[in-house]
Amino acid sequence: VELPEKTRAALDSIEQQFDLPTKKLEEIVEQMLWEFGKGLSEQPTKETKDTFMPMIPTYLQHIPSGKETGTFLALDLGGTNLRVCEVTLLGDSKWTMRQQKYKVSQALKMGEVAALFDYIANSVDQFLTEIGTTGDPNEKLYLGFTFSFPVAQTALAKGTLINWTKGFECKNAVGKDVAQLLQDALDRKHIHVKCSALVNDTAGTLMAAAYERGDCLCGGIFGTGTNGAYVEDVAKITKESKTKEELEQAKKDGLDKMVVNTEWGAFDNERVVMPFTIFDSRVDRISINPRKQAFEKMISGMYLGEVTRNVVLHLVDAQVIFKGFSSKSLNAHYGLDTAIMSALEAFSLPNSDSAADPIASIRKCITKDLGIADELVSDADCVAVARVSEIVGTRGCRLSACALAATIKQTGNDKSDKEVKFGLDGSLVEFYPRFDQRVKDALRELLGEDVVKRVVIDLAKDGSGVGAALCAQAAMAME
Ligand code: ADP
Repeated sequence: VELPEKTRAALDSIEQQFDLPTKKLEEIVEQMLWEFGKGLSEQPTKETKDTFMPMIPTYLQHIPSGKETGTFLALDLGGTNLRVCEVTLLGDSKWTMRQQKYKVSQALKMGEVAALFDYIANSVDQFLTEIGTTGDPNEKLYLGFTFSFPVAQTALAKGTLINWTKGFECKNAVGKDVAQLLQDALDRKHIHVKCSALVNDTAGTLMAAAYERGDCLCGGIFGTGTNGAYVEDVAKITKESKTKEELEQAKKDGLDKMVVNTEWGAFDNERVVMPFTIFDSRVDRISINPRKQAFEKMISGMYLGEVTRNVVLHLVDAQVIFKGFSSKSLNAHYGLDTAIMSALEAFSLPNSDSAADPIASIRKCITKDLGIADELVSDADCVAVARVSEIVGTRGCRLSACALAATIKQTGNDKSDKEVKFGLDGSLVEFYPRFDQRVKDALRELLGEDVVKRVVIDLAKDGSGVGAALCAQAAMAME
């Protein structure tokens, strides 16, 4: 398709604004390493909390080998539903699972926290009654609790809620230990279950990946949001202020590593290094958390489509595409779901149905999903919209690569000769076309082919099920 001069010029300009040359990527990785270091050495205060990532110690110190066995419960609160699972680890990197979902009503989300946890305990009870457990009835079942809200963790099974998010507003919860709240509720009902681990979903992802495929350096999520957890030397978590003797003892006991939850979605909130376009600023300004989660807003599923929508609207307003007309869904905030970007770019996948006639498949997306009248859409417009999606998405993948590169450098794996494994989960990893190829291209620019050859990126699903069960197993092993 021949692009009119005006379209080409507009795309060139967009491309320039979203461009991340290797040198910029290197600067971003350097700044990220600086934030890693700050977060590992300093407790954030009110004044400093936006200047570096929290780097939260998880107190998880046993990375699975795949040989773990036993039956455990996993509980996941924070998504649409409450999920209860029974996971049996078979010890050969395999597992079986039975699960049930329970609805969390609006009333429970807004009411007394005790009522919420009573409901959770009831659900566990109901699950065990209906499904029965394959575990030993005389033994207490250990439970890993994936609680996807901000928590200040102080032990594997201890952490206080900092604040609610995602529509939860229960009273008398902030500042309380959520593992204890769950345990109290379980005890009130005489349920023979012990909440032995409070789990962040990234740490769960890392554990699940390690169990299934061996040694794993980092678990990451690229879904609604983005975050990662990796295996760090305890000696480098200096804000925990351990003495030399304690560190030596830890080494002897095989406890010299710990999983750290980076909260990398909050990288560069102070805008030191990342190039924010006017489109990013528009997305940020009307978001529920302006000036927060800066990195996440250029990368994750919740925002990529919104950035793309803003660029597409700009092309409409500049009379470059759709004869200057928009549509109701294109005008609506968050009216372009990131899944549409996957559809727009599906033709770039070698075996996709849309590879045969890319223009037709893009046109279908624009008219059907974005609601633009067919007669307004030229073939050049189709090329332009898909190209915008690719530009925004590629920037996201290249930034994602910076988080991986920083983790590799932080842990000295750029200089080792070992395989470096990442277990990643989320819709972008799973569905966004060429996600891992784009990430690896940027990694290659940053670290060179020799390092990239050693990097393995696996899709690691269900950190909040299998991963949380493995955390419960780790807790048991530590007793
Ligand atoms: P979560 O992170 O909430 O556990 P997901 O990993 O499914 O869940 O991520 C959901 C996000 O991914 C949403 O923001 C959605 O817009 C986006 N998404 C859903 N489907 C796709 C897709 N096919 N391609 C790219 N992004 C998608």
